[in-house]
Formats: sequence, C-alpha cells, structure tokens
Amino acid sequence: MSLRPIHLLGSPVLRERAVEVAAVDGDVRTLIADLWDTMRIADGVGLAANQIGVARRVAVVSVEGQDYALVNPVIVEHEGKAKQEEGCLSIPDLYADVSRPARVVVEAADETGAMRRIEGTGLLARAMQHEIDHLDGILFLDRVGPLKRRRLQAEWQKSREGKTGLLREVTPEGASKD
Ligand SMILES: [Zn+2]
Repeated sequence: MSLRPIHLLGSPVLRERAVEVAAVDGDVRTLIADLWDTMRIADGVGLAANQIGVARRVAVVSVEGQDYALVNPVIVEHEGKAKQEEGCLSIPDLYADVSRPARVVVEAADETGAMRRIEGTGLLARAMQHEIDHLDGILFLDRVGPLKRRRLQAEWQKSREGKTGLLREVTPEGASKD
C-alpha cells in the first residue's frame, strides 16, 4: 500500500492543466493504485493525480461500490442541471452547493488501457466532473458565486492560521486535518 500526501489549496500543482497519458504503462498503473489507496484512507469518493502532486490526466472515482479508474477522461455528453453540496480532499472541511450538469457520459481508458464509456447521473456524474475539473486545474470553489467564494476563502484562510506547508499527510489511521 502506498499512501501519498494530498496537496492542499494553494499548492500550484492543483492549478496546472494535467497532461495526457500516452500509454497505460506500469507507471500509470502504480499511480492509479496510489490514488486508490490514498482516496480510501482519506475517505473520499474520488481523487485526481494533481492532488497527489502528479500533473497527469489520471483520476479515480468510487460511487456506490463501483470503482472507475479514469485515464485521459473526456466528457462527451452532458445534460440537465443539478445543484448539490460538494467538498474536496484538497480543501478539507469546506463545503458549498455546486451546480453542474445532472447527467454526463465520460470516455476514458481504464487501468488496462481499454476504452470505457461511463454514463453517470447523481453522485457519479458529479464526482466524475469534479475530478475532471481537477485535471484542468479547476476547483469547486471556482464554480460557486463570487460572494460565496469570498466567504469560503476567508474561512479557509482562518482554518490555515498558524499552519505551514500545503501537504496533508495520509496515514493508515486516516488523513490529518492539516
Ligand atoms: Zn477535489
């Protein structure tokens, strides 16, 4: 098991556009395994490679017992609109309602390199969109109104007072809060 520290809001890698993966090789499979391990211990429903400091287009999502490794994911269809509360392992303890398409179809390679087409509604649609946003350097804070964003940023700054560093250690006992 390989647990990787999670980068927090303010870490530049979260704002990078991750680069496409040329081939699903051993390195990519190791990255996927590390994402799974880290996501599970941190108790998330998804994790993108940028969040563990790797700017490559790889993410994992686990919703209702279904696991999806997403390599070079692309949203090929989207429909409707839904608003629901979101949080992010890179911005612990902050939550906000985010409006997104209610249904998406995502095409991505899986951990074997096979192309998959994943249709999602509800939490699956939301989680896939949240993780694909990460690969584009976008955070859920960017998708709330300016007033709410300012309030969340102030809340974040307050929660970071007296803390240094922008990494959140993830240990087998769970994720630290700072
Ligand atoms: Zn996130």
